[in-house]
Amino acid sequence: MKFMKIAVYPGSFDPPTEGHLNIIERGLNLFDKIIVVVAVNSSKNRLLTVEERVQLLREIFKKFPAVEVDSFKDELLVKYAQSRKATAILRGLRTLQDYEYEFQMALTNKKLAPAIETVFMMTEPQYAHVSSTLIREVARLGGSVSGMVPDAVEKKLNKKRERKK
Ligand code: ADP
Repeated sequence: MKFMKIAVYPGSFDPPTEGHLNIIERGLNLFDKIIVVVAVNSSKNRLLTVEERVQLLREIFKKFPAVEVDSFKDELLVKYAQSRKATAILRGLRTLQDYEYEFQMALTNKKLAPAIETVFMMTEPQYAHVSSTLIREVARLGGSVSGMVPDAVEKKLNKKRERKK
């Protein structure tokens, strides 16, 4: 049997953006399977529940059998990766700020599990400004997030706003 190259792509995905999708789609050129893991973001201002994020990502990738969506809480990422037979952690890079954080995390994970490689993919310029944090802000203030998030996410955010009115 061929050895499957599996990567985990962890993040908050609150909400999933076109930037995330782009990383996953390009990641599929490198890996046989990508497991997108939604982490609980207790420290950030939450917009969507973990279940809503998982549901949206599953809907977005329903036609991609090589993409699986899961969630995890209070677990070491490298342990999770090992349990899923993943050999890589996929991450995206946009800014110097991303770099500093990612650098620390990659070195820590390397120390915890030397066999797992962190693989970084540079953002494509059209997504360089797209961040979940800003999208949450814009959505909260009633602005349009069109073009920055997939249609399913935009619909979900609009529905949430309608319900709040
Ligand atoms: P976290 O809360 O762990 O930062 P995010 O959900 O914000 O997770 O993002 C998950 C991963 O996707 C991170 O590696 C982040 O740098 C990357 N990412 C987010 N937005 C973009 C983008 N527009 N272009 C490239 N990578 C991105």
